[in-house]
Amino acid sequence: MQTGDNDPFELEAMTALRRDLHAHPELGFEEVRTSGIVADLLAEAGIEVHRGLGKTGVVGTLKVGDGTRSIGLRADMDALAMPELADRPYASGTPNTMHACGHDGHTVMLLAAARHLARTRNFSGTVHFIFQPAEEGRGGARAMVEDGLFRQFPMDAAYGLHNMPGLATDEMAVVAGPQLASSDSWEVSFTGVGTHGAKPHLGRDAVTAAGQFLMAIHTIVARRVDPLQPAVVSACAIAGGDFNALNVIPDTVRIGGTARAYTPEVRDQLEAEIGQLARGVAATFGISVDYHFKRRIPPVVNHPDATRRALAAAQAVTGNPVMTDFPPSTAGDDFAFFGAEVPGAYVWLGNGPAVDGALHHNSRYDFNDDAILTGARYWTTLVEQELR
Ligand SMILES: [Zn+2]
Ligand SMILES: [Zn+2]
Repeated sequence: MQTGDNDPFELEAMTALRRDLHAHPELGFEEVRTSGIVADLLAEAGIEVHRGLGKTGVVGTLKVGDGTRSIGLRADMDALAMPELADRPYASGTPNTMHACGHDGHTVMLLAAARHLARTRNFSGTVHFIFQPAEEGRGGARAMVEDGLFRQFPMDAAYGLHNMPGLATDEMAVVAGPQLASSDSWEVSFTGVGTHGAKPHLGRDAVTAAGQFLMAIHTIVARRVDPLQPAVVSACAIAGGDFNALNVIPDTVRIGGTARAYTPEVRDQLEAEIGQLARGVAATFGISVDYHFKRRIPPVVNHPDATRRALAAAQAVTGNPVMTDFPPSTAGDDFAFFGAEVPGAYVWLGNGPAVDGALHHNSRYDFNDDAILTGARYWTTLVEQELR
């Protein structure tokens, strides 16, 4: 790649690369092509590269001067298992795989920043460029942490960024405190005694118990959680019986769902309350119950000090007032695992208006290439301000 004074971030090449990644999306832990390109472009710029952390993760390390502070910047690389329905020249060429969350853009913005910093070297300290696999529910961040990310690459703070439709591409939002909710899943299986549908008194009815339970779980947020604390409990799957046997009351009904919160306390409470209700309903109906609560990802909570530093960089870059009151989202992001180890800040970068109403995870969504420059400048400015 070539760069010059008039194109310090290699924008033309980076835009082409963004579209190339969009055309070749890869699912979590399968980002072989993507991480190969990332590693090669980091190495070509003279950045020390560590491949294969968390299976397909890549860490690039750039140490300049004698500064002792060290920070990590994170981009996610994975796509989603869904078809792309938009007609664009660089539409996904892989069936049922699509960059519908803009991680193709995240990868390219951090890559552009890394290569720029390797050329300009206008800081003193160590920066780790963390290219994470499998953000979309497959546990990439946890895999990198378990593989020794913080042991091999000690850092004082970690930063994340996500594109956000509805904000302009030169607009950013940086907010202290909770950004994204914890995202956990739960499963309840009621097991009674199956019987003839005409003779319910001869069995123990798990279907009716499941109905009671489904209504009752909505009292958890309404009646048990502090009204000033956001929380969500949703049942999202139910299975039991057979539509070819509508005279049979089945033994077992399975229900599964999600639970979301912004604090560890409310998260613990949701786990306890769903279980208590399930056991209570089972006891009422004289049936047994099996309950599992699976902790997937903790909430993303921005640390005050890291947020202050992120805000200063965002203000310097955009020239626009940075939004500091952007509302938190009940979605999740496993950047939370990095923010749990060191002070972290996760910020929003505008993706322009939602084209055709397409938002994240929509089959027509696309990262906006106009945001590449703002994102790359945010990363380089953050490094130059933090590591003086
Ligand atoms: Zn996503
Ligand atoms: Zn995403």
